Amino acid sequence: MRKLGDTDVFNKTVALRVDLNVPVKDGKVLDDTRILAIIPTLQYLKNQNSKTALISHFGRPEPGTDDEKFSLLPVAKRLEEIFDTKILLFQSLQDVNFNNDISLVENIRFMPGEVVNDTDLSSQLSKLADVYIFDAFGASHRSHASTFGAIKASQASCAGFLLEEETDALIKAMRSHEAPTLSIVGGSKVSSKLEAIKSLLHVSNEVLTGGGITNTFLKASGNNIGTSLCEDSMIEHAKDLLATSKILLPEEVVVSKSIQSGESRVCSIDAVQDDEMILDQVLSPEASEKIAIAKKIIWNGPVGVFEQKLFSKGTQELAQAIASSNAYSLAGGGETLLAIKMFIDKSNISYCSTGGGAFLEFVEGKELPSLSALGFKF
Ligand code: ADP
Ligand code: MG
Repeated sequence: MRKLGDTDVFNKTVALRVDLNVPVKDGKVLDDTRILAIIPTLQYLKNQNSKTALISHFGRPEPGTDDEKFSLLPVAKRLEEIFDTKILLFQSLQDVNFNNDISLVENIRFMPGEVVNDTDLSSQLSKLADVYIFDAFGASHRSHASTFGAIKASQASCAGFLLEEETDALIKAMRSHEAPTLSIVGGSKVSSKLEAIKSLLHVSNEVLTGGGITNTFLKASGNNIGTSLCEDSMIEHAKDLLATSKILLPEEVVVSKSIQSGESRVCSIDAVQDDEMILDQVLSPEASEKIAIAKKIIWNGPVGVFEQKLFSKGTQELAQAIASSNAYSLAGGGETLLAIKMFIDKSNISYCSTGGGAFLEFVEGKELPSLSALGFKF
């Protein structure tokens, strides 16, 4: 892989693609792990007297729109606090200048060509500065214009220090095939996570499901899930996975008539009513036992709507169980990192990755396009 340490950046301008897709509420950054993770690269560039324009995505805005909800402004403000300097937020690529040491470009997904990897946009990005540095491990599984596209189009591109650290650490962790390995997959992105579970079954003995994805499994196994989040198109796929007998489902869940109702009840998975939705789950004694005896744990995705106290217990208990297990534990994902910060001491997790989807694909042994474009090989 082409590395920053081997690349001439002295006195140069740099376009630095990072993953600043952090949890934000009311204009405030809730967890800055992903921001702090790019400091070594930024510090090195500053020492090399380079000028850096940061590029990142934030959430999933409709391409071509610039909904304020998806603005990187809260991130720019947090960067200002961390670096104690003014951070300009450029509204478009045309506005970018390198008068300051560090600046930020507004959400790259506002640009219509980003997610479709438009060649005009990737070419524009690749010519923005002397060097294109990719340090967005969390976006390395995407073939977008600012990831794979710009790396390919650039005359001089390399991986930043975070990417180097993440790939080194994860390779080391995955080389040791310790049994039993338990994977825990929660969160809300049903289709992409079901795909991940399929591959994780090759590197783990069992997969414990949680959060929104569990609902699809529960429905596939004949349970009523009321108004819960579910992807009906994935039911058959879920049935195939259940047939492996390696999927662990919850026994009891926390349900409510709505997320905002302020009321909830715990019930068995076969007692969910038509007008109820599953918003959290109870960590079963069986699951606790599996976590306690595992030699390796791979965790991505909260098992409930943990951002709300009423539905946070399952994720809190899960995080605590992983923290007290003697297993080598790997965890990753934007919301997963926030849950770790909220409920446990991060030092009790062996390795925390800044990637969510990318982290899962990496540990599955999949080829990640943006890493391959940088010359990375397993
Ligand atoms: P990560 O960022 O760690 O990869 P995801 O983005 O996939 O995780 O999912 C996190 C989100 O999933 C959280 O915001 C949480 O509120 C939501 N979630 C968890 N359980 C449920 C559920 N039962 N129903 C709806 N959303 C859920
Ligand atoms: Mg997320």
